[in-house]
Amino acid sequence: MSAAIAQTVAENVAMVRERIARAARGAGRDPAAVRLVAAAKTMPAEAVRQAIAAGVGDIGQNYVQEAISIMAEIEAPVRWHMIGKLQSNKAARVARAFDVVQTVDSLSLAVKLSRRAEAAGKILAVLIEVNLAAEPAKGGVAPAEVSALVAAVREQPGLRVDGLMAIPPAGSAAESRAHFRRLRALGEENDLRELSMGMTSDFEVAIEEGATMVRVGRAIFGPRR
Ligand SMILES: *Cc1c(COP(=O)(O)O)cnc(C)c1O
Repeated sequence: MSAAIAQTVAENVAMVRERIARAARGAGRDPAAVRLVAAAKTMPAEAVRQAIAAGVGDIGQNYVQEAISIMAEIEAPVRWHMIGKLQSNKAARVARAFDVVQTVDSLSLAVKLSRRAEAAGKILAVLIEVNLAAEPAKGGVAPAEVSALVAAVREQPGLRVDGLMAIPPAGSAAESRAHFRRLRALGEENDLRELSMGMTSDFEVAIEEGATMVRVGRAIFGPRR
């Protein structure tokens, strides 16, 4: 990758951090309480490396095969987050390779991840994905099912349930805000601290509504091909 593009990634990271800080302070929150997860799907290892060099410590990946080949090229100690739809036949590889799985939406998947994490000698951090608008094409558990699933996943010895994640439908800031509020309320009801919500188009609104992790792709890496 050319030096010019590397510089762009570094500049973009700085810009996103500034926007995070501004949104947090505007909401009376500590900017350090918002973790930036760089959503790197389809990006080459060199771009991921540039984000890490710019201080990003959390990398999100959507596709297991792509993620594992990128991981093999990155030496830096970063936290890898699985943020894509996860088929249970990939649970073993995911439990071994990732630090956080943000897309747990069924007990059967949780059981598989837990067994595989135990076999790998680790406790895997997970978030429960919530399908806030009942969109059929998206993963996630229905809001009404969150408490039961959280309770059941908490019983899994290889997992630690840290919080909730959602990808609300693209919409106006006002619509996004209502979804983010809903996720926050579900987190509070279930005594869960982490809220992974907000992407390039709406991360500032998510921070105003309590996001503790924002998953930002295009604002860091530019458009995906
Ligand atoms: C791609 C992706 C993102 C980042 O989206 P941008 O609009 O590029 O910021 C965040 N979360 C998930 C689950 C994604 O798949």
